[in-house]
Amino acid sequence: MKVDKTCVGCGQCAAFCPYDAIVVFGRAFMNEKCVECGICVEYCPACAISEDK
Ligand code: SF4
Ligand code: SF4
Repeated sequence: MKVDKTCVGCGQCAAFCPYDAIVVFGRAFMNEKCVECGICVEYCPACAISEDK
């Protein structure tokens, strides 16, 4: 998954990720626990997350 510049650091994605794969430091970063399920994409109010890899 990829987070683009429109991320506002709200933490919604981290709250809803069932795999605890997102940390937010100013903006969101995915870690190695991400299984590419796509759930976070649906919860981002800024539409900042997309499938990339
Ligand atoms: S794609 Fe799924 S596992 Fe990866 S960060 Fe988003 S919600 Fe978490
Ligand atoms: S939900 Fe979207 S805007 Fe909020 S921290 Fe996650 S990627 Fe950034």
